[in-house]
Parts: sequence; structure tokens; C-alpha cells
Amino acid sequence: MHDLTGGLARFRRDVFPAKAGLFAHLATTHRPKTLFVGCSDARVVPELITQSDPGELFVIRTAGNLVPAYASGPDGIVASVEYAVAVLHVTDIVICGHSSCGAMTALAEEHDLSAAPVVAGWLRHADAARARAAAEPAASGPAKVAALVRANVAAQLQNLTTHPSVARALAARTLTLHGWVFDIATGTVETIDAAPAAA
Ligand code: ZN
Repeated sequence: MHDLTGGLARFRRDVFPAKAGLFAHLATTHRPKTLFVGCSDARVVPELITQSDPGELFVIRTAGNLVPAYASGPDGIVASVEYAVAVLHVTDIVICGHSSCGAMTALAEEHDLSAAPVVAGWLRHADAARARAAAEPAASGPAKVAALVRANVAAQLQNLTTHPSVARALAARTLTLHGWVFDIATGTVETIDAAPAAA
């Protein structure tokens, strides 16, 4: 296992002192302005790529940066979206996909997921993304994965709008949705329109 203990010690010794004032403030204050929905992929670190301080991003990370469409009943992701929007009153939500996404690669290349049935079920939340990508000119290999990554960000933005808290905030014009794709090799971000892709 990585030396997380050593990391904790370095944080306490080398990093925390410079931000002690910020952490003292944050000890009793939680007012992030942005909900960042990213992939669980270890290479896409929200605070690093946005250069955000502690306290600035409310983060949900899921395999494939998927946000299920709204359904009532206890669900950790739905609850986190609702909390961010209805309680914390975030003003922006970012859905961030990324290059070389394992989840999107599995779908684009139709990998056998029979050994990971829960993953297979979870990735059904990308069905609309697959349908969008399938409507685009035929691509293969990395281009096919990249097309699905972009279509998936657009589809998850649509899914977000089915959440009542999000719909209310959008109607009140207190919330803006953003779609991003982060390229791991270059560190750049492409913005994705929430609207359905033009023919
Ligand atoms: Zn991913």
C-alpha cells in the first residue's frame, strides 16, 4: 500500500500550516459554490485541475461520471445532488468526463462485463449517451471512445435536469450547468454543450 501515513504527516508538517487560517474558517463554514461531478478515475483530480482550495468544490465521483436520472427513494448520488443544490445552494454544476475513461471504453468497445455485473448495471445510466454517440458518423478505436465520452457528458447534463432541485434552480436562474472533458495527456479541458448534438 502507498505510504498514506507518510502523506498525512507531510500534509500536517508542510502544507497545513500555510492554510491554517483557511481551515480554521472552514471548521465552521461549508459554502462551496460548485458541485463537481467527475469520474472516480484516479487521474482526474478535481481540486488539482481546477486549482481549487478546500471548501470550494462539493464533489461527487462515480464510475464514468454518471448521474442517474432522478428517482425518489434513498440514493447516495441523488441525495448528494439535492444537498448541494437545495441546501448548499451551489451556483454551478460541472459534469467532467475525461480521455481514456475506462467506463466509456468498456461501453464503446463492448467489453465483456459478466465478471462485474454491478458495473454493467451501473453503466446502463449511459444508455442515452450510447444512443447519442451511435448517431454520429462511424468512428473506431480512440475516436469512438472520445465521441462516447463527449456524448456521455451531454447525456449526464440532461439527467441532472430531471432532479427536482436542479430543475427548480434552473427555472429560478440561480444555477448554471457546465460540461467538460479533461484530456489527461495535455491537461486541457474541452467544453461540452448540454443541448442535443446537432445533426
Ligand atoms: Zn473515467
